[in-house]
Amino acid sequence: MTVAAFTLGLTGGIGSGKSTIANMFAELGAGLIDTDLIAHQITGPDGIAMPAIEEEFGSEFILASGAMNRQKMREHVFSKPDEKNRLERILHPMIRAATESAAKDTPGSYLIFVVPLLVESSSWQQRVSRILVVDCPEETQIERVIHRNGMTRAQVVAIMQTQASREQRLQAADDVIVNQGDLNEIRDQVRVLHRKYLLYSK
Ligand code: ADP
Repeated sequence: MTVAAFTLGLTGGIGSGKSTIANMFAELGAGLIDTDLIAHQITGPDGIAMPAIEEEFGSEFILASGAMNRQKMREHVFSKPDEKNRLERILHPMIRAATESAAKDTPGSYLIFVVPLLVESSSWQQRVSRILVVDCPEETQIERVIHRNGMTRAQVVAIMQTQASREQRLQAADDVIVNQGDLNEIRDQVRVLHRKYLLYSK
């Protein structure tokens, strides 16, 4: 299978509704590639990143299952940019390679890469034909993530502070879906964009 020429990068802050919106596009026939899922797979039991992670960070970051201890790693790199870079130097090229390989095998009228930190990455921005930002007020993000993950407000805010701001994301956007309120209305916005993307992918 050849890689579709038109590729959409879908991004948004934590809890903005990326997965919800991406699934709506998939129902209409777009091919989905979720980079978060790929990151989980490569750091799961037998994941291709695990030998390098063990060598670089030590066996204390590996669970009995062979997967990366995500919580311990998150805490380890949280406020240490050098350690975060060390981890990203291992993971990012592998995520990119696995993404390109998935792109070759994913059917769909066009491809959507779901990339949480797309606006933070110039190489991702260059890879996609167009950027769709899923947007909502920050307070809505916080409430959704507290509800979805059982995190505290402080934990959610701390994660949001490591991500691009709402304004930065909107500046990088070619298209925006305001994901607040009735999901049926949001589905209508998705349909309109999907028709446009079908034209671009012809
Ligand atoms: P992300 O992938 O950006 O982290 P999700 O798609 O998982 O966000 O959405 C976060 C949470 O908010 C989920 O529990 C989801 O069901 C809910 N959600 C998303 N969009 C809406 C909406 N328009 N109205 C109500 N709940 C929503």
